[in-house]
This record gives sequence, structure tokens and C-alpha cells, in this order.
Amino acid sequence: MKIKRRRTKSVRIGRIRIGSGNPIAIQSMLKVRARDIGKATDQLRSLELSGCDIVRLAVEEHRDAFAIRSLKRHTRLPLVADIHFDFRLALAAIEAGADKIRLNPGNIFKPNEVRDVIAAAKNSHCPIRIGANSGSLRIKSKDTAGALVKSVMDYLRIFKKSRFNDIVISLKGSDILDTIAAYKKIAGLCDHPLHLGITATGLPLDGIVKSSAGMGVLLFGGIGDTIRVSLLERPEEEVRVAKLLLNSLGIRKFGPELICCPTCGRCEVDLPKKAKKFQDLLDQLGPQDKARLKNTKIALMGCVVNGPGEAKEAALGIAFSRHKGALFQSGKVFGSVDLEEGENALFGMLKEDLGRMKKR
Ligand code: SF4
Repeated sequence: MKIKRRRTKSVRIGRIRIGSGNPIAIQSMLKVRARDIGKATDQLRSLELSGCDIVRLAVEEHRDAFAIRSLKRHTRLPLVADIHFDFRLALAAIEAGADKIRLNPGNIFKPNEVRDVIAAAKNSHCPIRIGANSGSLRIKSKDTAGALVKSVMDYLRIFKKSRFNDIVISLKGSDILDTIAAYKKIAGLCDHPLHLGITATGLPLDGIVKSSAGMGVLLFGGIGDTIRVSLLERPEEEVRVAKLLLNSLGIRKFGPELICCPTCGRCEVDLPKKAKKFQDLLDQLGPQDKARLKNTKIALMGCVVNGPGEAKEAALGIAFSRHKGALFQSGKVFGSVDLEEGENALFGMLKEDLGRMKKR
């Protein structure tokens, strides 16, 4: 089954295009100050390696806006300036070369200020995300979704009058159902690309579950052109979870997929430890090798009785007994290795496959 995506306008953010059938882009956010150039550069480098597509950074002061110019010399990642309260910070960020800015209709709402930002953005071909957030709106009714949509639609009127179309929209509520309802509603009212996210999610595991549930529903419905999994974690972890989410829905493939059984009473080895070791080996593959293996599933299973059959969709796998690892391909066992050698042997075979792919 293939997900049919909502039709939208296309918007260019630095070297990335979003919307209009372009791949759903993964965003994260710097968790250090933009003005701390050294730390920000290190985090950008790490995010680039992790496979992040777009990075947002908080612009609290003019020093953060000015830092964008320096940071852009160190990264190819598009940089999005996150602006609240003071429209002059948006003007400074655009001047410094931000690839997109995010405005919050809940705290920058004076029409003359918004118009000034739009004029500067138009001049610099800088797109704007209208990023509504239930926490910063004064919502009196119980209809949070309706209030989020209304705030965006009211804001959009200013943009329309200025004939500005390089727009991305997000409407984040802290309640998943409100957020889903708001996105579904706005999706039917405009054709601007949508950035998805669930905000204020709690501890990392809660965040992963809430983001997957909320964004999963929307993505399955074809809604969403960029995503951020907001986690109380390192930003690279946000990217990793976002990749897994897109991968699990078959929307984007990012590299070899490791599948493991949950184990049961038949398992006689420490499968979590072995799986972690094998994932570490996979993580060492370079981006090109990962891309070559993007449709490959590899299995680590907890017993020989059921493992090969339960993972027959895997191109390559190993099922462990107390002393041995049985190697299998498409559900059929073809050899065995010593227990301790299992992960390395499987990885070695994967590298041989890669070698053959490169020669083709
Ligand atoms: S593969 Fe074996 S150990 Fe793993 S869940 Fe299935 S039966 Fe249990």
C-alpha cells in the first residue's frame, strides 16, 4: 500500500524543497545557543551526519540572528530562525541569511509588524512558517483545534494582502487529538505545505509514543511535508526517531532495517545486547552504503525453532540457540556460526553483499 500525499505548493528552504511530492523532510532544533558558534557548529555537524534535513535555531537576541551568517559558512543544512515576540529579530535573521523564519501568531500579531517582516522576506526570497502553538494563544473556547486554525487563517489574510506565498504552516497543541484535528482542518482549507510536530511531550519514551501516534495518523492520511519529533533528548535522537517513523510507514527509507523478535521463554541468549552490538556495526556504515541497503531488512532472532520463519521477509538473518547462530536467508537456514561470532559474521556477509552491489 502506498500513502497518497496531500497536494501542496512547493517551498524552497535553502537547498531543500518541501511540499508538492518532495520527500518529507526531517527537522530538528539546535539545543545550544546560536551565538555560541563553536557549540552550535559542532551540533550542526553532528545533525548533518545523522541525516537531518533542516535545522531550526532559537533567536532570542540579535546576537543569535547575527550568528546565522557565521553558522551558514560551516553547514549545508538549511537554517530556520525561530522568532517570538520581537519582529525586529525576524528582520535581523532574514538579513543574516536565514533560509526560513518561523513566526508565532500568538506573540507577533500587529499587522504593521507582520507586514514589515513579509516585505523583508519577499525581498530576500525567505519563506515564512506560520507556527501557531496552543500554549501561546489566548484560547477561551473549548475548541482548541478551531482556535488554532482560526489564528492561522487570520494571519494568512495579512500574507495574502501582501501577495506572499512562500508559506509553511504548523499548528501544535499539547493534546494529540486537538493537534490532529487542527491539522486535518487546515489541510482542507489551504494548499501550503505543513510542518508536523507534537509539542511538550514529556520524557523521551512518552515523546516517542505521542509523536508517533499523532504524526503517524496524519502521515498515514497524506498530511505533512516536514516533521520534527520533539524529544527531551539530544537532537540527533530526534532525527533517529523521525527516520524510524517515516521508515515504518514506508514513506522514506534510510538504510538497512534491523528487525528483532521481542524474545520469549524459548530465547537462550542476551538478544538485546547482541542487537545493540549489531546496530552499532550498522551505524558505522557510510551514507552511501546505507543508501545502497535502504530496502534491506536484516534479522536477529531469539531462537532457531521459530526465528527464521518469523523473519522470512529479511534478506539476511541469524537465529540464536544456546551455542550457535543459524544463518538464514528468506526464511531458509544455510549455515551456522559460533554464538560469540554471530553479529560479526552477519555483518561480514552484509559487507560482502555491499561489495557485490558496488561491482554491478
Ligand atoms: S523467534 Fe523464538 S524467541 Fe523470538 S519470540 Fe519467536 S519464538 Fe520467541
